[in-house]
Amino acid sequence: MPNAYHGKILWIDLSEGTFREEKLPDEIYQQYLGGYGLAVKLIYENMPKKTDALGPDAIIGYFPGLLTGSIAPLTGRVMLAGKSPLTGTWGDSNCGGYFGREIKKCGYDGILIKGVAETPKYITIINNDKQILDADELWGLNIYETEDKIIEKHRNVKIAAIGPAGERLSLISCIIHDKMRAAGRSGFGAVMGSKKLKALAIKGDQKLSIANNNALVQITKEYNTSAKNAESGAMYLYNKFGLSCLNFSSVISGDAPIKNWGGTPEDFPMEKLNKIVADEINKYRVRNYGCFSCPVQCGAVMKVPEANIDETHIPPYETCMAFGPLLLNDDLISLFILNDLCNRAGLDVISVGGSVAFAVECFENQIINKEDTDGIELTWGNTDAIIEIVKKIINNEGFGKILADGPKSAAETIGKGSEKFAMHSKGQVLAMHDPKFFNTMARTYAYDPTPGRHTASSLDHFISSGFMNRNKYVKEFQLPRGFKRPGDARYEGMKMCAAFHQCINSLGMCYFTYWFQTYPLLEIIKAVVGWDLSIDDILEKGLRIQNLRQAFTLREGVILANSELPGRVVGDPPFETGPNRGKKIDYKSDFKGFCEKMGWNPENGYPLEETLNSLDLGFVVKDLY
Ligand code: SF4
Repeated sequence: MPNAYHGKILWIDLSEGTFREEKLPDEIYQQYLGGYGLAVKLIYENMPKKTDALGPDAIIGYFPGLLTGSIAPLTGRVMLAGKSPLTGTWGDSNCGGYFGREIKKCGYDGILIKGVAETPKYITIINNDKQILDADELWGLNIYETEDKIIEKHRNVKIAAIGPAGERLSLISCIIHDKMRAAGRSGFGAVMGSKKLKALAIKGDQKLSIANNNALVQITKEYNTSAKNAESGAMYLYNKFGLSCLNFSSVISGDAPIKNWGGTPEDFPMEKLNKIVADEINKYRVRNYGCFSCPVQCGAVMKVPEANIDETHIPPYETCMAFGPLLLNDDLISLFILNDLCNRAGLDVISVGGSVAFAVECFENQIINKEDTDGIELTWGNTDAIIEIVKKIINNEGFGKILADGPKSAAETIGKGSEKFAMHSKGQVLAMHDPKFFNTMARTYAYDPTPGRHTASSLDHFISSGFMNRNKYVKEFQLPRGFKRPGDARYEGMKMCAAFHQCINSLGMCYFTYWFQTYPLLEIIKAVVGWDLSIDDILEKGLRIQNLRQAFTLREGVILANSELPGRVVGDPPFETGPNRGKKIDYKSDFKGFCEKMGWNPENGYPLEETLNSLDLGFVVKDLY
């Protein structure tokens, strides 16, 4: 038996009502690891090109990382993958919790679902007992109600579910695991909804084989001990405050977008910002929680008496920014309410905030008025109006219907020049990090196979802690000298980050490890899997995965090389005030330089034939050439 993986995946066909196990050869893990890597390999090969993302042939995959299920620190991630109905590109979305580990405990390295059920269903996998069950009484319920009902019948299962938004095929709907962790991006809630699949509920007791358990225990103990003893730095802050620890610094530094990306910290001054900082949020903390195998535990359960909420989850940075400075809203309680509403409905908070910001700016510019918005005065910082419109999006009623698929779709419906207020890339609302601050994020927003994402290997985001600047994250991973200056070394750094990041995901590691302490990556892979890898081996696997993600998107006919970001996002024209004043990001040149390093045609982003062949991706050549 191999170490760390089972060599087996599970296919479920909802049209046929069947389950089928497939054994995979060791080589596939050696080449693609797990997570996004294994997902893109299997979905690329099994899903015909130009498949309707919401049709019966569409495949959605749930993949734990290669290391997931072991005790290796911060390796508990699970990845959703398939074609994004939102962007029409390759889609993936990464999330924590315990669902990934449970897939491994069920004896699988991934679950792939295709087909469409005739009536609403949910799937249970409890060790060898697999069933497709009627979900009529779950359909229409929110995430919390759904999970509670499932758990009444199937004790101790781990659940991935959609809310009403996914059922209605909202393109900004998401999948929530264990009530708290969202695979938010790419619109996968709609994919589950299109299959009439309300939830997966799984439980297993299979053990993973570990190559060298003693070594793993020792390495994990050392890493976790210093995490637990941290009295400063990112680990300490994430544990004490969660991601809201970024709220203050991100706004004043120019990282957080303000006023639908058109504002500066002057529009959201200290007296507003101080109301939504981590210390204020923390007053509502009840207890911490976190993902499997994580010593940091950055999540928290909160109680908010002012909103009559007995139990909810801490609004993460992205929620705080998307419903805070982006809308000039400084009402702390509303951040809890909006986060809770979106979680229960199964909606991506970034996309909802971006959709409302779009609508507010349309209202300000008299493109829409109160007659269009069902009487709602959609003005900046109008907390009641924001909550009201979000409820309309959730209930898919009135003006909420127009916003329910995100701002790109809304602008197409509204017309009248409204598209200039839609801050998205290929339909995906841009994340809450400004490329004028993290320059290389413009390239990933525009050109990554999953556009609009902040967790897509931007070099500048990767090195944003002083810790990473010193190249100490994984000691063998050293960015080239001079990578901060425009030119060759910087492009090489972008390529290295793109490759490395794919491996981190495919191993199931949490992105936040970048900000923590030195991670003994190669030692952990050796202890868990038994592979003696070099950093070059890691990067080669990452390049293979990134090339295949790119090829999937190109095969769909989407030429990302033509992508344009909204001018205000990249400083075109440059801002005259604020921390990002005078900055204009030349992301198109970055893309060309990046392509040359990747072995891609800089004009259209196509991987060259020799690049594909050198990465054992010869099977892609016929699809692209
Ligand atoms: S740091 Fe937070 S998101 Fe990352 S693994 Fe730990 S609990 Fe999960």
